[in-house]
Amino acid sequence: MAAIELRGLTKVYPGGVKALDALDLVVPDGEFFALLGPSGCGKTTLLRTIAGLETATGGAVVIGEREVTDVQPGARDIAMVFQDYALFPHMDVTDNIAYPLRIKKVPKQERQRKAAEVAARLGLERLMDRRPGQLSGGQQQRVALARVMATQAQAFLFDEPLSNLDARLRLEARTFLKKLQRELGVTTVFVTHDQAEALAMADRMAVMENGVIRQIGTPAEVFQRPVNTFVAGFIGSTPMNLLDGVVRGDTLEVAGRKVAIPQAAGGRLVDGEKIVYGVRPEYLTYSAEPVDGAFGGTVAIVENLGASHLVTLESGDATVQAIVAEGGEPEPGAQGYALPRGDRALVYRDGDLVRG
Ligand code: ATP
Repeated sequence: MAAIELRGLTKVYPGGVKALDALDLVVPDGEFFALLGPSGCGKTTLLRTIAGLETATGGAVVIGEREVTDVQPGARDIAMVFQDYALFPHMDVTDNIAYPLRIKKVPKQERQRKAAEVAARLGLERLMDRRPGQLSGGQQQRVALARVMATQAQAFLFDEPLSNLDARLRLEARTFLKKLQRELGVTTVFVTHDQAEALAMADRMAVMENGVIRQIGTPAEVFQRPVNTFVAGFIGSTPMNLLDGVVRGDTLEVAGRKVAIPQAAGGRLVDGEKIVYGVRPEYLTYSAEPVDGAFGGTVAIVENLGASHLVTLESGDATVQAIVAEGGEPEPGAQGYALPRGDRALVYRDGDLVRG
């Protein structure tokens, strides 16, 4: 087991695309770290550069105590699971799991024993003679995981390993994978573009944009206090409400209403300056009656989320969304009011969080 450290890591592809821009990151020993960001932000490049499948243009990769920037992938002692699992179609499950051990010249009996032991942990023991084409997507994913586990590498790198699974299997797999990582305690970097997956699984996570890390933190930190409007809009199954406003003395004028200055921004704002007021739909209390400091509007859409509803209020050119508990949802066309929680609302200036 080992920590992973990136120092000023830069990757410029031939043709000039800067996929990683002087990136610094430390993933401590044993941590489950998720890398999240929109398509093309550099997640896969980052993972492949840690693995040595891409050569860094600048900076350094350190695994444990050893700088491995110029070390061949096979000698880095890390194991990677790809999106497509990369199983060998002509090999059965045993041989697929044991393949990395064969490369390491582990004797046949020993590698078969190891493959069987790991397969049993993943519930694959009755499938050992099958080939990948005779397995379901979820089973193939477990074989790919078993192969990684059998290598006993110092770190695991996962590149969207759950993206080929259907929604239900994906949920099961994510619980299972997290449990497994806990048990093994192996440092893991997990790439996903699915923010719910990152929030659910990671000890800590990074949100990337254009080759740069915009925020690193625990899922709770990133969810509750996004450091800029990009992260605020990206994280959360329903995006944060981001409303234009102006500071008016000791209150804010947001979407034509007077709103209290959120606690987090208290004392840091200048009268008359333009700001963006951010509050998650989960942190607005909905009411059918007018309330002081609430956003009022016409109910435009009511979306069923199961045990709650997402209500969209429109007023002039401002749109506010609020989560409303089962039974309290209004009818479209009604007047509604949404009161923000002052301890959860945030203020952004020039795109960056204003904080005490
Ligand atoms: P996705 O979620 O779509 O897989 P990603 O965040 O993993 O995206 P990367 O695949 O790392 O993004 O790509 C980062 C940037 O580098 C993109 O602009 C991409 O077009 C570019 N890129 C990736 N691979 C190459 C390559 N081999 N040659 C040139 N440019 C590349």
